[in-house]
Amino acid sequence: MLIFRLAIPSPLHRLFDYRPPVYGAVDAAPGCRVRVPFGNREVIGILVDRVAETESDCPPDKLKAALEVLDEIPVLCDELYQLTCWAARYYQHPLGDALQQALPVLLRQGQSDRFQHQTLWRASQDASLSQLASNAHRQRELLQLLLEHPQGISTDALKAEGGDPKLLRTLESKGLAASMEKRPQLPHADEQEQVLREAPLTLNNEQGAVVSRLQQANGFLPLLLEGVTGSGKTEVYLQAIQHVLEQGKQALVLVPEIGLTPQTTARFKARFNVPVLALHSGMTDRQRLDAWLWAREGSARILIGTRSAIFTPLKHPGIIIVDEEHDGSFKQQDGFRYHARDLAVYRARQLNVPVLLGSATPSLESLQNALSGRFEHLRLTQRAGNARPPKFELMDIKQQTLDAGLSSGLLARIHQHLRQGTQVLIFLNRRGFSPALVCHDCGTPVDCTRCDARMTLHRQPPHLHCHHCDRQTPIPRRCSQCGSDQLRPAGSGTERIEDRLQVHFPDVPIHRVDRDSTQRKNALERIMTEVHKGEPCILVGTQMLAKGHHFPKVTLVAILDADAGLFSADFRGMEKTAQLTLQVAGRAGRADHPGEVVLQTMQADHPMLNTLVHAGYEPFAREELRLRQGGHLPPFSHHALIRAEANRQGLAENFLLSLREWGQQYLPEHVHCIGPFPALMEKRAGLFRAQMLIQAGQRKPLHQALALLVSMMQEHPEARRVRWTLDVDPIDS
Ligand code: ADP
Ligand code: ZN
Ligand code: ZN
Repeated sequence: MLIFRLAIPSPLHRLFDYRPPVYGAVDAAPGCRVRVPFGNREVIGILVDRVAETESDCPPDKLKAALEVLDEIPVLCDELYQLTCWAARYYQHPLGDALQQALPVLLRQGQSDRFQHQTLWRASQDASLSQLASNAHRQRELLQLLLEHPQGISTDALKAEGGDPKLLRTLESKGLAASMEKRPQLPHADEQEQVLREAPLTLNNEQGAVVSRLQQANGFLPLLLEGVTGSGKTEVYLQAIQHVLEQGKQALVLVPEIGLTPQTTARFKARFNVPVLALHSGMTDRQRLDAWLWAREGSARILIGTRSAIFTPLKHPGIIIVDEEHDGSFKQQDGFRYHARDLAVYRARQLNVPVLLGSATPSLESLQNALSGRFEHLRLTQRAGNARPPKFELMDIKQQTLDAGLSSGLLARIHQHLRQGTQVLIFLNRRGFSPALVCHDCGTPVDCTRCDARMTLHRQPPHLHCHHCDRQTPIPRRCSQCGSDQLRPAGSGTERIEDRLQVHFPDVPIHRVDRDSTQRKNALERIMTEVHKGEPCILVGTQMLAKGHHFPKVTLVAILDADAGLFSADFRGMEKTAQLTLQVAGRAGRADHPGEVVLQTMQADHPMLNTLVHAGYEPFAREELRLRQGGHLPPFSHHALIRAEANRQGLAENFLLSLREWGQQYLPEHVHCIGPFPALMEKRAGLFRAQMLIQAGQRKPLHQALALLVSMMQEHPEARRVRWTLDVDPIDS
C-alpha cells in the first residue's frame, strides 16, 4: 500500500509521512487536504505524493495514520499548486506553510471548498396583503418586505429593513411565505451581452501601440509599460482587459497595498458590465472564500487585489496586470518572503498569458529585464488629455534658517499658489511632531529602552512613541542624564509642520494625512472629499499621500527633505528616493493646472538628483544601473540575506560567523558570504540583530548554497537561542 507524503504547516523544511486514513480515500490525488495528528494537535496538511512504504525514513511501526481526506478534487488546482511549490523552493520556505498561505483562511482551517448556502425567504406565489387581517400590522409589514424582494431575502437583511423575522414561521404556516437555500450571490452577476458599460476613451498613439501589442500576443508576453504619471496607464489596462473579457476570459490585477482604494475599483466597475471583485483587507474570511470560489469557477471576471491576490485561482485566465510594479509592498516582509511581481511573471508563463507590469518609475530589476530583452518595453511619454508635466526646482537650503523645516523661499511660494486659488501639497515622510526629544543642556536624546533608536515625540495626544517596537511612554519632564528640564523637540514631523503652517496661514484649511490622522474609520475619505471640493488648502502628509490619490487642484508639491534617502546605507536608497520623489511629484499638475514641484535640498548639485529632475527617470535609471553593474550589485548579481536575532549581544553574530566558516568549506564556488555585520539598528524590540549577505553572479549556485545553509541552520545547536530568517532577493537591508 502507498503511504501519504504531506506538506504540513510547520517551520521545518521537510515533508511528513502518514498511512492513509483507515476509512476512505486511499487514492487521493496530490493537492488534496488531509487532516492528521501532529505532535499533540490535529493539523491540516496537503498531499504532495504517495510513495511506497519502503521509501519512508520513518520506521513502519512509527507511521501514524491520517485521520481524514477532506477533498475529492484537489483544493488547489494543479497550476496554483505548481506555482506555490516553485515559490517555496525559490524562497527557501517550508512547503507546508507556503501552501497554507496560498489558501484562504477558512480552507486552511478545513472548511469545505463549496459555497455555504444561505437561507432566504420570499413570499409564496400568490400571497397578497389582503390575506392578512388589517390589524396584523407586523405581519403585514413583513409580508410587504418579502413582496419587495422576489429573489428572496435573508433574515439579517429583513431585520435591517425593519421586519420581524420571528413572524416568518407564522406567515409560513399561513402559506404566505417560504424559505429556500441559495448560494451567495456574486455582486453584478447579471451577465450582459455587452462587456462595456461606458464608452472607452480614444487612445493616443502610444497607448494604442501597447493595447494592440497585447491583443496580438499569442500566449506569454512579459511587457514593461513605463508611463509617466498621468499618461493613461489605467486606460491601457482597461482596454487590454476589455479584449480579454470579450474572449470570455478573466483578468487579475495586482495593486500596491496603498493603491487598493474604492476609487481604483470604481474605475473598473464603471467601465464593464462584468463582476469585478476587490480582494481587500476589510473582508471577512467567509467573503474572501466566496471571492476565491467565484474566481475559481470563472464567474468573477476581474479580480483586483494586493500581494496575496497572486494566489487567486483563475478558471479562464486572460491577463495578469501588476500596477506600480516597483512598489515595495509586493514583497512579503515576513514568513514566506515572496515577491508577487516575480510570481506574476512566473505564473503568466505557466498560464501562457500576457503579463503587464506598469509603472512611472520601474524597478531597476524590471528595467534591466527590459534592456536585456527578457521583457518587452513600451513607453508612454506624454501626459494623456491636455495635462502638462510639472516643472521641477531644486531649492537650495544650505546655510538658510528654516522654520521647523520650512524655508522662507518655500513659504513665499506656498503663499503665491494659495493666492491664485489653488492647492498645495507638502510631503514629509516622517509622522509625529518631532523625531527626537533632546536635552538642550547636555545634548542627550530620549532613547527607546528596547531599540537603538530615538523616541518620536507626538503631540496629538502628547506622548513618546518608538516607531520600531511600538513602545509608548509619557513625555519625561527632566533629562535622565543631567536632570535639566530643558527637553526640546529636534527636527520635524508632519504634526509640527502642520502647526507651523497654521501659524503662517491662519485662514487656510490644513489637512494632515498620515497613519495617525487617518486611524479613525472614514477619516481619510472625509479629508479627500474636502480637498476635492477644490477650495484653496494645504495638504501635509507622508507617503500615504504619494500613491493612488489624484489631486487635480494641487499646483505646488513641496518635498521638504529631499535628501533623506541620498546617503542611505542601503544601495537601493537612491532608487527608492527617485521613485518616491516622482510619485509625489505626480500628484501635481493633473488636469489643466500646470504644476510645480519644489525639492528642498542641501545637495542642489547632487548629480543623480539633477539627472532625475531635469532629464527624467529613464536617464537616471540607466546611470544607476551602470553604477550597480560596476559594483556587482543586483540586478547584476543575486542576493539573499540571512538575518539572525537573539536576546544577548553577540549570539546572533557568532551564529552567522560559524555558518560562514562552515560555508567556506562546503558552499559552491562563486558564492560569497559577506559579513556577518550587526544590523543597522542592532537592537530592536529588545533583541540583538545581525545579518549576513550571500551573493552570487548566477542563481543556480546561489540556490544550491541556500539549500545547504538552510539545512545547516536547522541542525545548528545554537538554533534554539538564535532566531534566523532567510530572505531571497531582499529589497531592504
Ligand atoms: P496613469 O495611470 O498613467 O497615472 P491615468 O490612467 O489615471 O494615468 O490617466 C490620467 C488621466 O488622463 C485620467 O483622467 C484619464 O481619464 C485621462 N486619459 C487617459 N487616457 C486618455 C486618452 N486617451 N484621452 C483622454 N484622456 C485620457
Ligand atoms: Zn541633559
Ligand atoms: Zn523601540
